[in-house]
Amino acid sequence: MRSATVRGIPNLPDGQYGFLELYCDEPECDCRRVIIQVISPTSGSKICATIHYGWESLEFYETWFRDNEYGREYTGATLDPFNPQTENSDALLRLFIQVLQDKAYQVFVEVGPGQKTSTIQQDSRAAPADLTIVNTQG
Ligand SMILES: [Zn+2]
Repeated sequence: MRSATVRGIPNLPDGQYGFLELYCDEPECDCRRVIIQVISPTSGSKICATIHYGWESLEFYETWFRDNEYGREYTGATLDPFNPQTENSDALLRLFIQVLQDKAYQVFVEVGPGQKTSTIQQDSRAAPADLTIVNTQG
């Protein structure tokens, strides 16, 4: 899980946010996407946002789903329409995209499902360090 500490970002309370990666656990599946649950120490068990991230191209998902409509929804980072969102979701999606600019984290996320590890093994992988993002423009 990656975490980010933020301050002064519009529509987002200051504090720490964690990005919990949930991969598809079907052994033969190769859908190359991840659901990111955004959590916060101050929000308890409440999920602050649910982000869907597909790192392959639009063409990959169009072939995968044999459907153009789904392909567009699966490529890139988007808010997951089937899971909990809050009034902070849009800001958290922008934060996630910003965190993804870190190549080490991008590799960490994209390697996950390829390893086909169990949840416990994934937890024991070295977690990338906390990132501090301070908005100095406002
Ligand atoms: Zn899958």
